[in-house]
Amino acid sequence: MAEIKKKIFKKKYSLQITILTLFASIAAIFLAIVGSQLFYVDRKLSLETINMKTSNIVQSIQNSIKESESTHLQTVSLMNKIAPDRGMDFYIDILKTQKALYAAYTGYGDGSFYEIINLDIDEELRKNYNASNEDRWLLIIIDGSHIEKRELFLYDKELNLRSQRVEDNSYDATSRPWYKMALKDEKVIKTLPYKFSHIDAYGVTYSQKLKDSNNVVSIDVLLKDFKNLYKDYLDADGMEMYMFQNGKEIKPYIATNQDIFQRFIELNLDLNELNEPKIIEIGGEKFITQAILIDGYFENEYMLFLANYEKTINPYNQKTYKLILSFILTSLLMAPLVLYFSKIVVRPIFRLAIESEKIKNREYDVVEVKSFIKEVSILSSVFSAMSESVKNHQEYLEETVKKRTKELNLKNEELYKNSITDKLTNIYNRAKLDLALSEEIDRSKRYGSIFSIILIDVDFFKKVNDNYGHQVGDDVLKQSAKVLLENIRQTDLLGRWGGEEFLIICTQTDKESVLVLAEKLRKTIKSHKYPTYPKEVTISLGVATYSEKIKSIDDILLSADRALYDAKNQGRDRVVAS
Ligand code: GH3
Ligand code: MG
Ligand code: MG
Repeated sequence: MAEIKKKIFKKKYSLQITILTLFASIAAIFLAIVGSQLFYVDRKLSLETINMKTSNIVQSIQNSIKESESTHLQTVSLMNKIAPDRGMDFYIDILKTQKALYAAYTGYGDGSFYEIINLDIDEELRKNYNASNEDRWLLIIIDGSHIEKRELFLYDKELNLRSQRVEDNSYDATSRPWYKMALKDEKVIKTLPYKFSHIDAYGVTYSQKLKDSNNVVSIDVLLKDFKNLYKDYLDADGMEMYMFQNGKEIKPYIATNQDIFQRFIELNLDLNELNEPKIIEIGGEKFITQAILIDGYFENEYMLFLANYEKTINPYNQKTYKLILSFILTSLLMAPLVLYFSKIVVRPIFRLAIESEKIKNREYDVVEVKSFIKEVSILSSVFSAMSESVKNHQEYLEETVKKRTKELNLKNEELYKNSITDKLTNIYNRAKLDLALSEEIDRSKRYGSIFSIILIDVDFFKKVNDNYGHQVGDDVLKQSAKVLLENIRQTDLLGRWGGEEFLIICTQTDKESVLVLAEKLRKTIKSHKYPTYPKEVTISLGVATYSEKIKSIDDILLSADRALYDAKNQGRDRVVAS
């Protein structure tokens, strides 16, 4: 059994391995698909998500810029129309209209300057102007005739003066860019964004020259900090946002990380190609990068988004990992089931294989394999029936072979008997006599035993044929053989020597005894009544006994023949010993 199992196992792949391989292949294909999700789909999704977010942000920033822009222009026109000399209240009212307004002021052609600053706009501001928390507004007045000094007045919410002081002054309004630009134009002008001196923020100045004078009204507007406005969106993807004007010298007026921005600029990428999000590497770190040309504050203005790639793709990867994990868990749970079911299928087939191997070894004790799988069950019962039929056929064949062998043996026996029997007289023939004689000589030579032979010839037999016919002659020969056979010992061997001559080999018989036997035979034949032959039949007998002189069968036969010859010559119907 173990041998058979070993043999079967050696043969290529088992059914169970095939089933398990199928299962493993399905798992591998699934993992390959999910793997490609990790490397391709998740990446694509990340890029699309960033694109969607940036598009939304850009859209709403553009809208917001446009809206505020028109408000600022209107504000300056309004200041222009209503005389600025109406004083502090008016300036404060202007500042109160919008949160981004930092200051409202007028620069005069003689160098005088009148400005109200909104102290609430930035925490830093109060510190820089030595103001307390109760101080709400700062009025700065420079008199054109005393340009080296300026007066500072701090007011609280209710516009009560809380303190005032005089400081040295180096500020000259008429040398400022906004003043110079405004003088050249009738309309409201706008400066490029610049960093404010007293706070860490960028802003723009909107100005307009008053009609028929060199006096200019202005407002300082903080560029809206979109970075803070969209903080939640940006943080969610580890996204950084920059706004800048693309030109010779690029300085972002809104930036989350100056250092990274600087490195990005050093890469010297074509911004147009970054209109769609791309993955680039900055300082060994991957970023999903998108630069969008916007319709914002200035010409050629861009918004740049740098989203941390790992952080963006992570949620998608997490989902994919979870999917893989749940698949692996499912596979692990399924593995015993697959093993179990494959065993249900494989076991009976394996049993069948072993049973069939038995038949090959001619063992027919085949056991019917039980299985609740229809096909296996059919196969098994067909197989059992087949083995039964093979067994029956085998038994039939064995039986037939036995019978045939027996028949053949009988035939062989008959053939042998025929080969040593004389057809007419049914006693031994000359071939058998030759063989027996040679065996007897061998035995005598080896053991020193003695034996004798009697050569018999029917007297005047020719006359029997001549006078009574060949048929009667044959009868006489048959009868004579019968009589001779009846009168010799069991151990003696009688055969027809040829024609009407007989030879008897008498084992363990010396000369004396053989003479007695020969004489007895002569008398018996002579007195025998032949049924078809009316006359007396006589025989002549030549006797020879083995002696050491005799070397071959020819020697002893010659000796007997001589004795017979003598018997004939002496008148027949007698016994002569050599
Ligand atoms: P002798 O006394 O000298 O032996 O005389 P014989 O006539 O017996 O001897 P011979 O040798 O002259 O004749 C033998 C005869 O035996 C000749 C032959 O036709 C006959 N004979 C030999 N075999 C058979 C046989 O099988 N059947 C018959 N009917 N006759 C046979
Ligand atoms: Mg003769
Ligand atoms: Mg004769």
